Amino acid sequence: MVPEPPPTLRLDVDAAALAHNWRALDRLSGAAAAGAAVKADCYGLGAARCVPVLRDAGARDFFVAHWSEVPTVAAHIPPGNISVLHGALSAAEAQYAISAGVKPVINSLYQARLWLEAGGGACDLMVDSGMNRLGIRPEEAGDPLIASLRVDVLMSHLSSADEDAPSNARQLETLRALLPQVRHRRASLANSAGLMLGPAYHLDLTRPGLALYGGLPRAELAGAIRPVARVQAAIIQRRVVRAGETIGYNRTFTAQTDLPVGIVSLGYADGFLRSWGKSGYLLKDDCRLPLVGRVSMDMVAVDLTRAPGLAEGDFLQVPFDLPPAAEATGLSQYELLTTLGRRFAR
Ligand SMILES: *Cc1c(COP(=O)(O)O)cnc(C)c1O
Repeated sequence: MVPEPPPTLRLDVDAAALAHNWRALDRLSGAAAAGAAVKADCYGLGAARCVPVLRDAGARDFFVAHWSEVPTVAAHIPPGNISVLHGALSAAEAQYAISAGVKPVINSLYQARLWLEAGGGACDLMVDSGMNRLGIRPEEAGDPLIASLRVDVLMSHLSSADEDAPSNARQLETLRALLPQVRHRRASLANSAGLMLGPAYHLDLTRPGLALYGGLPRAELAGAIRPVARVQAAIIQRRVVRAGETIGYNRTFTAQTDLPVGIVSLGYADGFLRSWGKSGYLLKDDCRLPLVGRVSMDMVAVDLTRAPGLAEGDFLQVPFDLPPAAEATGLSQYELLTTLGRRFAR
């Protein structure tokens, strides 16, 4: 069999930048250790690629959301250092956790009972300190079920760490008030943005995600964090669109003069959503090539006037600097990363 030809989409992960970012966030966590949120396939960048890099940089505690995300991480990390944020919702999930040796994050008294009935050992415990997402209510912390748990990480999650919101201090106080009440090994509150709120927020363990992958949820992180993802797509056809002709679905663009156009192998199925299309561009080195017409599922067109030498097979860069890309597209930095599709060579 002839080997599969290389894809016309590339997602390069800069391993040195990823390792640098974990070390920078670990340092910014002061006396606390930094863990790593590796859910959603390391925010779309590929857990098989990123997890070993984070481990070798020194990360010990890894967080996923789903049980389906465990095997890829457990291929590289001792299972006892992996936490599943959604927790065990059924006896089957609890049995899976026990057999895999992975910690569920207990989010309710119901989950606590299920875990104890399954004979579960070490777990983490999420307290909802005001976000009303997952976690037991603070007043449930005194329940005998909670006292029976073997809690490794007692944690909560900040709703607004990327803003200077008064709720941040209130959430910290809510968690701190529970520390003497719930037996635990380590306490944890801060995500990427939260660890910039000051040493009081560090506790024993921080849980950065976005900033590991080059995102900047707070401007103060700018000097410390390096971009990690480089996204490129190939020109698969060059054509000349005649003056007066239109390009793409619904003919939203009309050429004013004869126009050299590149059809690029990148579409919304790859996470390049239509919102990139408004005043968007791709890059050849520093040269901006404007997008023309709508983004299709598998393709987008660019104006090649400024780069006449480009040919089929040449790769263009997606301007994937996350804060300006978020600004330009109206998407969050999280969405830009996690929507990157399955067709990229990672
Ligand atoms: C996703 C997540 C994190 C990481 O958050 P970032 O904002 O990406 O740093 C930390 N803790 C919990 C509970 C999460 O769900």
